[in-house]
Amino acid sequence: MSTDQNKFQAIISHCKEYGFVFQSSEIYDGLSAVYDYGQYGSELKKNIKDYWWKSMTQLHENIVGIDAAIFMHPTTWKASGHVDNFSDPMIDNKDSKKRYRVDHLIEGYAETLPQADGDALLARMDELLKENDFAGLKTLIEENKIKCSVSGTVNWTDVRQFNLMFSTQLGSVTDEASEIYLRPETAQGIFVNFLNVQKTGRMKIPFGIAQIGKAFRNEIVARQFIFRMREFEQMEMQFFIRPGSQKEWYEKWKEERMQWHLSLGTDPSKYRFKDHVKLAHYADAAVDIEFDFPMGFKEVEGIHSRTDFDLSQHQLYSKKKIQYFDTEINQNYVPYVIETSIGLDRMFLLVICNAYEEQDLSTPEKPDSRVVLKLPAKLAPVKLAIFPLTKKDGLPELARELMNSCMPAFHCFYEEKDAIGKRYRRQDAIGTPFCVTIDHQTKEDGTVTIRYRDSMEQERVPMADVKQLVMNKIF
Ligand code: ATP
Repeated sequence: MSTDQNKFQAIISHCKEYGFVFQSSEIYDGLSAVYDYGQYGSELKKNIKDYWWKSMTQLHENIVGIDAAIFMHPTTWKASGHVDNFSDPMIDNKDSKKRYRVDHLIEGYAETLPQADGDALLARMDELLKENDFAGLKTLIEENKIKCSVSGTVNWTDVRQFNLMFSTQLGSVTDEASEIYLRPETAQGIFVNFLNVQKTGRMKIPFGIAQIGKAFRNEIVARQFIFRMREFEQMEMQFFIRPGSQKEWYEKWKEERMQWHLSLGTDPSKYRFKDHVKLAHYADAAVDIEFDFPMGFKEVEGIHSRTDFDLSQHQLYSKKKIQYFDTEINQNYVPYVIETSIGLDRMFLLVICNAYEEQDLSTPEKPDSRVVLKLPAKLAPVKLAIFPLTKKDGLPELARELMNSCMPAFHCFYEEKDAIGKRYRRQDAIGTPFCVTIDHQTKEDGTVTIRYRDSMEQERVPMADVKQLVMNKIF
């Protein structure tokens, strides 16, 4: 059985062993902080995406979706502030050559101090970060004799800013004009399309634009599996509102997003809000939704009141008017924005961590255990596994009949091999909520045994009812 400390390692191994997540390019020893989703992982990820997309677009009359390109005109990132501001202060240890994010290095050290001393150190660090005082940050590290965990020395370089955007060349000419970026967030694809969507969709404020897509950040400290990746996916929604109404909408979206998380049946005590102390350059309020991961409470989603910063900046840089005429108040204005931004991969990790359970099922007669993923049925990669008890006596034919009727409606899995108990365990490990066994009695009275993943209870039900029974749980 795993302890709390090694539960995370156990989850990572499980993700690999059962085809959820693989290290990218593993045969070449992998690529750091880049991951591939396997046969069950890609299915689970898609189900999370669909659940978010449906709740945001289909269930909100005033929110529509778009799918913008990853490459954008380079001026986009000048306007958004990413070229100048999207960077973290870094410091390198000269002996080990290891690079650290300055805040992570100091935070790590603060955790080893008595509470009051640690708090005082962090307060000082926050002040220096706010003032962009890099010399001061270096002095703080030196004064406290903070050591590199690899070399054990205090031989540090100066603190430098490190931009997190990846750049590449568009076309074959390598002059500066053709340098473009891989988008570090999906939000800007929404802002530059604000007028296109508003006009063609005849949208009236308040309304939202949602998008799911890849984002890229050259994260320096890229650890913790898929929690912090260099290529990841975001699910973002920008909600356009009348200036002055941002407080009210901010509160509304805070509440609504938390309800979305809880609608998956997660224990509310595993979630909390954390207000931002240091606001990003575009925000007048910001909060994180944090989840209690095995490595502690960490951000999974951000809700930001972005004011009219982005649209105003694009108006300025593009020299095109980006405004909305509000017929109710007879006024032209640049709309304000509330953003909800959740990382799809982090949500995936959350769902897996919340679902993973190692259970001791030993009896006095025999030791036994199982690993089960108690995934919400609507997210599970496979909804129903169908097992003929044996390979003969017409049982596979009956099982195939059930497969054929269920497959168009949801994802099913068919298996004839091994003892039923073994087959159940394999489905538990990938989180299949229902297994059905077809046996000799099925031939006589048309009933099958349905076995429930979480309770492991079994009951006989008519084979004709199975499809509806599963459908009731997954929609
Ligand atoms: P962090 O403080 O963890 O770096 P952030 O505050 O920079 O995150 P945002 O820019 O608000 O993150 O992005 C919104 C969401 O995108 C985050 O809540 C997170 O779920 C996800 N996200 C951001 N960076 C990464 C990453 N490197 N890998 C995976 N998901 C990410």
